[in-house]
Amino acid sequence: MDMPSLVFKGQSIFSRKERLPFLLQKNGVKSMECKALIDKLNAEKTLKKDEWIYLFENYTEDDRAYAAGIAQKLSIDKYGKRIFIRGIVEFSNICKNDCYYCGIRRSNSCAQRYRLNEEDIMDCCAEGYETGYRTFVLQSGEDGAWGAERLAKLVCQIKEKYPDCAVTLSVGELEYDEYKLLKQAGADRYLLRHETANREHYQKLHPGEMSFDHRMNCLRQLKELGFQTGAGIMVGSPFQTSECLADDMIFLGEFKPHMIGIGPFLPHKDTPFRDEPKGSYELTLFLLSLCRIMLPNVLLPATTALGTINPRGREEGVLAGANVIMPNLSPTAVRKKYMLYDNKICTEDSTADCRYCLQARMKSIGYEVSITRGDYSE
Ligand code: SF4
Repeated sequence: MDMPSLVFKGQSIFSRKERLPFLLQKNGVKSMECKALIDKLNAEKTLKKDEWIYLFENYTEDDRAYAAGIAQKLSIDKYGKRIFIRGIVEFSNICKNDCYYCGIRRSNSCAQRYRLNEEDIMDCCAEGYETGYRTFVLQSGEDGAWGAERLAKLVCQIKEKYPDCAVTLSVGELEYDEYKLLKQAGADRYLLRHETANREHYQKLHPGEMSFDHRMNCLRQLKELGFQTGAGIMVGSPFQTSECLADDMIFLGEFKPHMIGIGPFLPHKDTPFRDEPKGSYELTLFLLSLCRIMLPNVLLPATTALGTINPRGREEGVLAGANVIMPNLSPTAVRKKYMLYDNKICTEDSTADCRYCLQARMKSIGYEVSITRGDYSE
């Protein structure tokens, strides 16, 4: 049988022009090529743009399982069968921005707005600490009433009370001096999904007043300031193509974030994207595996969105290479109001219920929840 060679060290696995017609005629050969690309990614930690595109356009369920097997092994080699938990406090759903995909965008007049104060947030942390969380993630829209100075004071307060805990911030785009202030206050990590590394795609997801360059600059500044920095995307966001995903993987491979947040796009009924289809569950799992293979040490959450699109999403995310889960610590009274997308799970369970539900879910797949900060390590 006329098989393609699978040894392609240091060069593109095929010249698209020469080999693609041949590949398309051969049953099963595409899958072999995909596996060879996954092996190449594992060996070299990078692929070329046309290789990424080929992979996204041709992978099969078998290839996805193959990638998941490698990714899960890499995750266990690095972090063991331990899952780090992060308690998220969604402290304000007020946002000055108008991202087209987001349920709490400023133009959504149906959103019931709320803002927690310092005392509320400290109460959430106290409950979280009791139930075993050693990382608090403070997340909000870009809410001017919670400026960097106020937030920095809160970070100091949390770090003083819980010196064994990490504080992660996820409050959007700020200026360099503001990030610096937050770092000096003791914040350890910062999550800022880049959303897309493709400029044209970015412009289709955001109004003209928002800047792709500013967002990317923010990420660079955060890393430079010493934050453990998280980037990430929604899989299947409107107008996303294989080329966009290839750009994302190339960006992530070069930027080397410490954390990558990847979840499926889920539409929200009160946004311009209300009628857009959900992102693919399987492609999200595949991307999680590819991220783990490319960056074996990365902290990789099995996101709430993954658990929303599929009841076993978080378990299968872990089996695909994820090693972090981020349950909600917000007061149940406000959880339903922080709806970035429709039908978000875990909006009614108490902090303790969420915590023990996750512990049982992880146990069911042979993993345990780790009561540690769960820092990134090389
Ligand atoms: S995605 Fe973030 S910045 Fe954009 S509208 Fe929603 S909360 Fe605001």
